[in-house]
Amino acid sequence: MKFATKAIHAGIEPDPGTGAVMTPIFQTSTYAQSAPGVHHGYEYARTQNPTRSALEKNLAALENGVEAICFSSGLAAQDAVIKLFKSGDEVLAVNDLYGGSYRQMVRVWGQWGLKSRFVDMYNADNVEKEIGPDTKLIWIETPTNPMLNIVDIQAVCAIARKRGIMTCVDNTFASPYLQNPLDLGADIVLHSATKYIGGHSDVVHGCLIVKDAELAQRLHFIQNACGAVPGPQDCFLILRGIKTLHLRVQRACENAAEVAQFLANHPKVAKVYWPGFETHPGHQIAKKQMRMFGAMVSFDLKDNSIENATRVMSKTELFTLAESLGGVESLIGHPASMTHASIPREERLKVGLTDSLIRLSIGVEDVEDLIADLNQAIG
Ligand SMILES: *Cc1c(COP(=O)(O)O)cnc(C)c1O
Repeated sequence: MKFATKAIHAGIEPDPGTGAVMTPIFQTSTYAQSAPGVHHGYEYARTQNPTRSALEKNLAALENGVEAICFSSGLAAQDAVIKLFKSGDEVLAVNDLYGGSYRQMVRVWGQWGLKSRFVDMYNADNVEKEIGPDTKLIWIETPTNPMLNIVDIQAVCAIARKRGIMTCVDNTFASPYLQNPLDLGADIVLHSATKYIGGHSDVVHGCLIVKDAELAQRLHFIQNACGAVPGPQDCFLILRGIKTLHLRVQRACENAAEVAQFLANHPKVAKVYWPGFETHPGHQIAKKQMRMFGAMVSFDLKDNSIENATRVMSKTELFTLAESLGGVESLIGHPASMTHASIPREERLKVGLTDSLIRLSIGVEDVEDLIADLNQAIG
C-alpha cells in the first residue's frame, strides 16, 4: 500500500461488534472476563485499549515499522526511550533540538546519572569523532528546531550501527509523510503527534515506532510499567487527524515554499532558514531523505532588536502568536522566549538562535492571505 491508502486504511477495521466504520472510542478502564484469564485480548486499559491498538497499527504502517507504542505526549515517549538505558550511559544528541527534549535529558535524567552531550551532527564525520566509550544512544532531530538544519540520517545511523549504538530520530518536524527514518537505518522513530500527525492543535500525544520486535516488547513493557498512556478520546482524535495527513502536509509545504521565497525577497529580512533553498547547507541531504522540504520557516530581521521582532510578532492577524506547530492554522513564535527558553542563552547563540529569531509554522490557508499578513506585520 502507498502512503495515502495506509493513512486511511492501515489498522482500521469496521468494529466487529457493531459494524461501526470509524474506530469507536473505547472509554472503559477494564474488560469482562468469562473465567479468570479468559478474555478477548483486553484486560485493563493501561495495558491495552482497542482505540489505541488501531492507532498503533496505523502509525506502524505509516513509518514502515513493525510496531508503534503510544504515549500521553511526545516527551512521555522520549522518557520511555531514555528508560532503556542506565546511569553512566551517555546520549549524544544534536545540538539544536527541541527545548523540552533538552530539559528532560539534562535536568531530569541528569539527576539519575545519565549523561547527555549536544554536538554538531550536520557533518556525519563529526558524530564519529564525538562518540565516547559510554555513548549508548544517538538522538537525531531533523529538520532541527528552530534553525531547520538537516542531519544525514542514513550516514549517522550507519556510523552508530557499526559501533552497536542505538539511534532515535525525532521525526516531528517532517511527519511520516515527508521522511521515514526506519528506512534510513534508525532503530526508533519518535513523534510528538501533537503536531503534524494530529494536525488540528486539539490534542497532546506522542508515539514511538520501531522495526525490531524485541525492542518493541521492551518499550511496551515500559509503556505499561510506567503508565504514561494516552486516553482513548485522544487516540481517536489522532486517528481522525491522520486521515488527512498527506493532504495537509503537502499543502502546508507548498505554502511554506512561497512564504520562504517572499521573505527572502523582502528588504527588511536579513536571513531565512528553510531547507528548500538551494543555498541551504543541508539542501542536498534534505532532497535525498525528504519528500518535500517541510512547512517550518524561521527568519531574522535586519533590525534584529528584540523590540522589532516583538513588534512584528504582535502585529500579525492571521498568524497567531503561540507555541507549537503542525496544525492547519499558521502560527508565529519567538523561540528565545517561548519554545527554547529552557536552553541557556549562550547555548542558543552558539547555534544561531538569536533573541530576534522568528519561527513560522505554515498552515493550509490561502497562501496569498498569509503573505499579505506577514507583509503588513513586517511593515
Ligand atoms: C513538541 C515537540 C516535542 C514534545 O512533544 P509534546 O507532545 O509536546 O510532549 C518533541 N520534539 C519536537 C521536535 C517537538 O516539536
